[in-house]
Parts: sequence; structure tokens; C-alpha cells
Amino acid sequence: MSIVIITAGKETIGWEKALKAKRPELEVLVHPDVAAKDKVEFALTWGHPLGVFKEYPNIRCIASMGAGVDHILRDPELPVSAIITKLEDPNLTRDMGLFVVALVLNHMRDLTFYKQNQQQHNWSHKRYLTTDNTTIGIMGMGTLGAHAAAELTKLGFKVNGWARTEKQLATIKVYKGAEELNSFLAKSDILICLLPLTSQTENILNRQTLSKLPKNAFVINVARGRHLVDEDLIALLDNGHLAGASLDVFREEPLPEDHPFWSHPKINITPHIASITDPASAVSQILDNYDRLQRREPLKNVVSPELGY
Ligand code: NDP
Repeated sequence: MSIVIITAGKETIGWEKALKAKRPELEVLVHPDVAAKDKVEFALTWGHPLGVFKEYPNIRCIASMGAGVDHILRDPELPVSAIITKLEDPNLTRDMGLFVVALVLNHMRDLTFYKQNQQQHNWSHKRYLTTDNTTIGIMGMGTLGAHAAAELTKLGFKVNGWARTEKQLATIKVYKGAEELNSFLAKSDILICLLPLTSQTENILNRQTLSKLPKNAFVINVARGRHLVDEDLIALLDNGHLAGASLDVFREEPLPEDHPFWSHPKINITPHIASITDPASAVSQILDNYDRLQRREPLKNVVSPELGY
């Protein structure tokens, strides 16, 4: 039995080693060096070349190397019978929670301001935001959003969530769907996007929605670049409605050299490092699904191609 790794550009050696370490007898193939493509049923992918699955007529599972599956679903020629799975790894979830907390605290206390002052030997204070006057709104209350919400709640923040379907949680009010989006936004002093990228959520951070945030709100996008309309964010930062933004993801990555985000004084940039999959930790669930497929049992973390997540 075998697993094929298919990716355009991503390093595969870590995955190969991690799979072999856990399952020495498993044949781990790397596309395109696969002799008998018709024998392969399980693919592990990130940003595969479009249409590549036509070469693998018996693929039954396409597993994402990350939490997002937009890079798989962008392919109009996916095999209709293949099951698509996302990654739900505890380390990935933990790291995203910590990163979001770091961005929130950096905004609240503005450590960059003091670092800049230090360079000028400047002993100046400024007022800072506190947990009791800051409400955080998290768009997407799935694996990552719900965990980030719990971490921020533990720190004393009031946290609201926004999801597609109704949820009843003890400490977090979750707003639902398009009909409750404006009410959710109006209460979000810090807005965190942890949505999957789908046809419903693409461009959701735009002039209209961002204008609904309270004045001086702060925007954190750690989901996908195509959630955000870049020029709308810049317009609302420049007209003073928004206080700033931390962006980890971009429409084009790496962010083009001449993109205005690089030099915007109110924007902090990180190069898509919010939470990076550790193959050593993630392969257990890949192998679990691989075994389930062999036993013809239901797989875990299955996504809906119709919903896009
Ligand atoms: P999940 O699939 O677990 O959760 C998705 C959440 O979004 C659910 O709460 C869902 O609502 C909600 N949602 C989906 N569509 C809509 C909609 N139209 N309107 C309102 N809510 C919607 O995703 P994860 O938490 O695992 O991951 C989220 C995203 O984070 C990934 O897709 C990826 O893009 C990004 N990511 C970024 C990383 C980085 O390093 N920057 C690393 C890992 C992931 P409901 O609960 O009702 O179904």
C-alpha cells in the first residue's frame, strides 16, 4: 500500500521522514516519480498542480497538509468520488491560539512604540487598552477560532464569535450568518478572521463590513489573503476609522515587493507563519485516515466540497 505526496513547491522531505518513522513498511511516493499511478488510493497534498488527479484514476482520499482546503478545492477537475480531508492537529491549533494572543497583546500594549522610543532614548508613556474595555470578535468558530476564543476568554477578554450555523456556548456569544454579521461587527474592537476561504467568505473583509466595526478597531487576518480587499483596508486605515491591522496572509505570497502593505505605518506583516504544520505531529491522523480507508471505515475531518470547508 502507498501514499503519494503531491505538492507544487512545498518541501516534502519532512513528511516523507515523518510517515516512514511512524510506518516503516509504508511506501511513500512523491509525485511525479510514481511508476504505477493507478495503484495509488491516498494522496497527501498542498497546492497540487491543477488537473493532476486525472493521472491517478483510483484516488479515494485527498488529504490536506494543513487546516485549509481551499488549495485543493480550487481545482475544477477533482475526482468526484474522492473524499477530501483537512488537518486538525493539536499543535497547529495551540500555535494559532498563541499567535493570535500575541497579536492581540501587541496591539493592546504597543511594544513596537517602546522599542522605537528606546532607540531614541525616549522615556514616553501612552495609554493602553485593557481587557475590560476591549471586546474581541472572532470570525469562524471552528477548530482554530473556538480555541483562540477560549484562550482569549481565559485572559479576561469579552469574546464574541461568528459562524455559519447556530451555537450555544457557555461563555461566548456566537452570532450566526449574514443576518447577524453587522451586530457582531459593531461590537468587535478587535476583529480576528479565522474563516475558511470559500465562495461565501472571499472578500468578506471589505469596505462595507470593516466600516461596521467601532471606530479605532483593529483587524487581524490569519486566515487567507483573499478574505481581505486590500485597498478597502488601506482606505479605512487612512481615513482614521481603523487603528491598525496585523496581517499574516496575503492574496499573493510572498507579498510583492511593491505592495503598499509593506510600508504602511498602521500595518504589521508576518509571512504566513501564524501556525505551521509539524509533520511529526500531523502524520498520526493522516495514517489513521489511511488505515480507515483500507478498512472501508468512515474517515475523520472530512470536508464538504459544496460548503468549501
Ligand atoms: P473549520 O472548518 O474548523 O472552521 C470553520 C469555521 O468558519 C466554522 O465555525 C464555520 O461555521 C465558519 N464558517 C464557514 N463559512 C462561513 C460563512 N459563510 N459564514 C460564517 N461562518 C462561516 O476551520 P479551521 O478552524 O480548522 O481553520 C480556519 C482557517 O484558518 C483555515 O481554513 C485556513 O484558511 C486558516 N489557517 C491559517 C493558518 C496560518 O498559518 N495563517 C494555519 C492554519 C489555518 P460553522 O461552525 O457554523 O460550520
